[in-house]
Amino acid sequence: MERNQNILKDTFGRQHSYLRISLTELCNLRCTYCMPAEGIQLSPRSHIMNYDEVYTIAKTFVDHGVTKIRLTGGEPLVRKDVSIILAKLATLNVELAISTNAVTVDRFIDIFKACNIRNINVSLDSLVAEKFNQITRRNDFDKVYKNILLLIKEGFNVKLNAVLIKDFNDNEIVDFINLTKELPISVRFIEFMPFDGNKWDKAKMVTYTEVMTLVNTSFETNEIIRIKDAPNDTSKNYKIKGYKGSFAIISSVTNPFCDSCNRIRLTANGRLKNCLFSSSESDLLTPLRAGKNIEPIIQKAIRAKFKIRGGMDTLEKLESPELHSKNRSMISIGG
Ligand code: SAM
Ligand code: SF4
Repeated sequence: MERNQNILKDTFGRQHSYLRISLTELCNLRCTYCMPAEGIQLSPRSHIMNYDEVYTIAKTFVDHGVTKIRLTGGEPLVRKDVSIILAKLATLNVELAISTNAVTVDRFIDIFKACNIRNINVSLDSLVAEKFNQITRRNDFDKVYKNILLLIKEGFNVKLNAVLIKDFNDNEIVDFINLTKELPISVRFIEFMPFDGNKWDKAKMVTYTEVMTLVNTSFETNEIIRIKDAPNDTSKNYKIKGYKGSFAIISSVTNPFCDSCNRIRLTANGRLKNCLFSSSESDLLTPLRAGKNIEPIIQKAIRAKFKIRGGMDTLEKLESPELHSKNRSMISIGG
């Protein structure tokens, strides 16, 4: 395939420069919104990309214009060879970032630095230990909170991701924003999204509008500063005047950011998903193992990308259990 042929541009002119790679379907937490209580059907081990395969596929994307790679999962840091993968990917000319639950982050500080990883997103859904433990079905709040402070102390750019769930953590929105008074972090409130087995219910969702209504009643209007969005930003960013950090809302459900989407996803078993909400996938790993050229498969997958949310262009379609249950659980997509 000719190098000048732009295989990462879709039929709506969107150029895909951001690849999210899920390294594993496993996790040391069990967040209720991410995976069903009974767990998920795991891919056989031999179907999971090894570190050379992760590198080879990633390099193909970088050769075609990907400039940013985020490693995710499951929990990427539970993978035994994660340091090897980081070191290999660090040799590519690409910005490398990671999403983690931070349970074991303290063991990776030097590796992150050596691999020039600056941007680290951490899931934290509650500032109350018992509630955190309830939603993650594990008792790691203290460890996680300590590790978040460690990342900040070590100079990383930290974003905290909180999935908002009505009557669970919506009463902590202002507490999360107040955390940014002294900490130079960005807290990002994420609208709860429907995936297979996560018991999504529209009534449990806290919308962008609801968050901003609360913000507007909790802070003076002249204190709330709207920050200019970066290109392809999925969040609407704000800060409170004088605070060291900022906050943002990711409104994938009520206000999707599909027009400027530059993201594609590679699952741990080597399948390309052209959209987080897409129920179809393109297997890259089997042809790679058979010695085939994966570029035409990538091109076809990108060209098949729908304009909005994997074809679920209305809220009604997104709410339909038959449609969203065709997708994987978030844990096996890699958020
Ligand atoms: N284990 C890592 C972590 O928790 O950050 C990386 C994987 S996790 C699947 C990536 C992101 O997806 C997390 O920020 C998590 O909050 C988000 N996520 C998972 N399920 C979600 C859902 N149903 N709606 C919105 N965000 C979700
Ligand atoms: Fe694990 Fe992250 Fe999913 Fe929580 S959100 S279960 S930490 S993969």
